Amino acid sequence: MNVPSNESIDARLARVERLFWIDRDEATQAARDWLIELGVVDVDGVNGEPVDYSSVEIGLGRGAVARRLRVLLANISRTRGDPSRSAAEVQQILAWAERHGEVALQSRCHDVLGSVFEMVGDPALALEHAVRVNDLIDESEVPLMRAAARLCLADALGSAGSFDESRRRYNEALRLVIDDTDTNIRYMILNNLAYTEYLAGNPEAALETVEHLIALSAANSRPIGMYARDTIARVYLTAGRLDEAERMLLPAIETANDDPNPDAISAALVTLAEVYRTQGRLDAAQSVIDQCATLAAGHGLVRWLTEVAREQAESYAANLDYRRAFEAYRSYHAQSVALGASENEARGRILEAMFQTAESRRESERYRELAERDPLTSLHNRRFVDEHLSIAAIRSGEGGPCFAIAMIDIDHFKRINDALSHAVGDEVLRKLGEILKHAANRVAGGIAARLGGEEFLLILPGADAAEARERFEEARSDIADYDWTPITAGLPVTASIGVALAPEDGVQTSDLLRAADVRLYVAKRDGRNRVVHTATIQASAAR
Ligand code: GH3
Ligand code: MG
Ligand code: MG
Repeated sequence: MNVPSNESIDARLARVERLFWIDRDEATQAARDWLIELGVVDVDGVNGEPVDYSSVEIGLGRGAVARRLRVLLANISRTRGDPSRSAAEVQQILAWAERHGEVALQSRCHDVLGSVFEMVGDPALALEHAVRVNDLIDESEVPLMRAAARLCLADALGSAGSFDESRRRYNEALRLVIDDTDTNIRYMILNNLAYTEYLAGNPEAALETVEHLIALSAANSRPIGMYARDTIARVYLTAGRLDEAERMLLPAIETANDDPNPDAISAALVTLAEVYRTQGRLDAAQSVIDQCATLAAGHGLVRWLTEVAREQAESYAANLDYRRAFEAYRSYHAQSVALGASENEARGRILEAMFQTAESRRESERYRELAERDPLTSLHNRRFVDEHLSIAAIRSGEGGPCFAIAMIDIDHFKRINDALSHAVGDEVLRKLGEILKHAANRVAGGIAARLGGEEFLLILPGADAAEARERFEEARSDIADYDWTPITAGLPVTASIGVALAPEDGVQTSDLLRAADVRLYVAKRDGRNRVVHTATIQASAAR
């Protein structure tokens, strides 16, 4: 695969997420490779424990990227039949995304959760999540992702019995990806739409949709997948086109033993048995029933074991063998009750996993909040700064908004400690924290942080050189002009300030902090109580 070397993070994410709709093995590989690159050690989660992101916490953007990749992997394992494990992890990532305002990530999480609840038969919860997927998706996202969001909603609406609404969303989804020839999303949309029309009792619309699906596959010389074959055959069966239904399903018999998706094969075999029964070919039906029963039992596919028991009963009845038909019905009934119970059980397990996660989340949220705040001033701390600065810097380097930072150091702070007391020094730091918080609040999204000791940082998003000049001068005079008398009994408090701008001075946290630090040194050297914006001296000469 051609990977442009200067690909942006957003472009790379879009490419990897797109692979989900092209080749899931490739998507898995690409996501895992990237996670390893980001420093996530336990890429798969150890013993089913959620992945530990602490190694990638530095840099909010990378933390978000790692989580987007994990959600992608969870979604793939969901499609491969492991919904409950995915659910708990995705729920936890969702909570993180909500805390950090990562809206695109939230939308992806709801998408997976919606599909999980769809799979375990809870249409109400599935619908709730599907609605959130669409609320949260940005209309500037690539059409493929918007189509995926509509598809999720359409599926949930269909399962909840809102067929008209469901149809409308499928068609919206289809329009979004009408020219998308290399992913398989259009086939998925058409397949699900056809199945929905079939369930809704609209045979003509169902027929029209499957014909569209067949024509599209032919036009792109793309083989029709087994689930789609089953849908098409069901529609043909309802329309009385039995020979075509049979032709559509014969590949299921041929590939039954080596197809990687026994679930789809079982579905197809049950339908084929029904086709043969309807044709009156009861021996052929029996042979397919036996094949399906073996396959489904071998893979523990309870749903298809149940369906095949029902088909067996129908088949005996068609053969006028009522005693066996009755027994088969009884077995079907027992299995279907058991299946309902196991669906409920799966749902219960998922809800419980989510609840436990929510509880431990509340705990860790408290710790996390503590870990990101400085206890003395209650400003953000260095750890928080690293996270936020690095994502802002990366975005700025990719053509995103500019911003300004100022490193602020109290002048002769040691004198205050020495002349008065450490407690008074603390009081000065607390008050300075308030002044800086106020200064940060003059700009939307502004952040004040304490880096350590008597060193602070202001981050002003969207500020260019001119605004930085104005705002930081204002901050300097806020400090110098404040009436410190009640605290310091007359000792003045001033601060020196070094400024750096992104992207001009760098798009890496370390470069920006270094530039600001050098200018702070110049401000000290040139007499303190001043703001230095542009000085460039060699850091080595400065020390
Ligand atoms: P300059 O103008 O060159 O920055 O001089 P300064 O005295 O401010 O700089 P210096 O780095 O020599 O001293 C900083 C002092 O800040 C030393 C340390 O005792 C004090 N300090 C660091 N953290 C705290 C704190 O949490 N509380 C108090 N009260 N003092 C602190
Ligand atoms: Mg200092
Ligand atoms: Mg100082």
